[in-house]
Amino acid sequence: MEEAPAITIQGLVKNYGRLQALRGLDLEVRRGEIFGFLGPNGAGKTTTIRCLLDLIWPNGGTLRVLGMDPQRQSLAVRTRCGYLPGELHIEDSLTVEKALRYLNDLRGGKADWSYIRQLAERLDLGLKTQVRNLSKGNKQKVGVVQALMHRPELLLLDEPTSGLDPLMQQEVLSLVAEARLAGATVFFSSHILSEVQEISDRVGIIRQGTLVEVAETQALIKRSLRRVRLRFKGPVPVEALTALPGVSQLVRGDGQSLVLQVEGEMDGLIKALAAFPVLDFETERPSLEEIFLAYYSGG
Ligand code: ATP
Repeated sequence: MEEAPAITIQGLVKNYGRLQALRGLDLEVRRGEIFGFLGPNGAGKTTTIRCLLDLIWPNGGTLRVLGMDPQRQSLAVRTRCGYLPGELHIEDSLTVEKALRYLNDLRGGKADWSYIRQLAERLDLGLKTQVRNLSKGNKQKVGVVQALMHRPELLLLDEPTSGLDPLMQQEVLSLVAEARLAGATVFFSSHILSEVQEISDRVGIIRQGTLVEVAETQALIKRSLRRVRLRFKGPVPVEALTALPGVSQLVRGDGQSLVLQVEGEMDGLIKALAAFPVLDFETERPSLEEIFLAYYSGG
């Protein structure tokens, strides 16, 4: 029998009173991939993850996590997943080590301590420190360790690098990538586009509780808009270029210098340009950030 996808979400609806946080979200995460769940503040990322772990109940839709129904098999889902919440609440009076022992026991004590020590070392996290004395960033590291420590099949990470300095952000991304290499599936939410671009195989963009795009990360970058800066020997009829399919003018120039936006193939523009004396031609690929902003602003 074919293995079920790591996550299947169909028509997920979640209301908080009159606020519709999720409005029929559909999403599938394949086994073994890193899926970046990208969206602005308030888009519904945390709500989605909390529904997947049966921490809140949706108002509609169906969910499957590792082939299981999180509402019926809540415990099994939670033991087979590693979850990093946006804010981890841990008992203040414990040391990091005791807190991790406690969390490990809750999940059946599957974690091995040499791995926990290794994770703590890589994140420069002192196991003997009391939780109440931890900075925000160090608390986040405890969250990362407890999510990874039992080597779960599926990692659900809510903004994993939040509050960490750049060096530690990089370390967390490496740990996530290594977990995937060891066979785990990773679903992580973020509004930091560069990190999604760096490690995810696919990206889903959520806006106002619905998914507006799912694509291979590289394809999304490649397929979409390109910016072309042009300088000509003399003024050119701009309309001859903007009439081409997928070509529009980004910055209104003097007819001699132009900034165009090209969607899709460049071939049409390049052939049309052959009719004019071009002095300079420069093209830039947009970052995922620009692509995202285009979606966010409704473009
Ligand atoms: P962020 O990037 O800021 O964490 P998010 O994409 O994770 O945002 P959610 O936290 O899922 O977004 O919130 C979605 C919407 O639901 C927001 O408008 C938020 O204010 C609202 N919301 C979330 N939790 C609750 C709650 N417990 N009660 C009422 N409204 C809530």
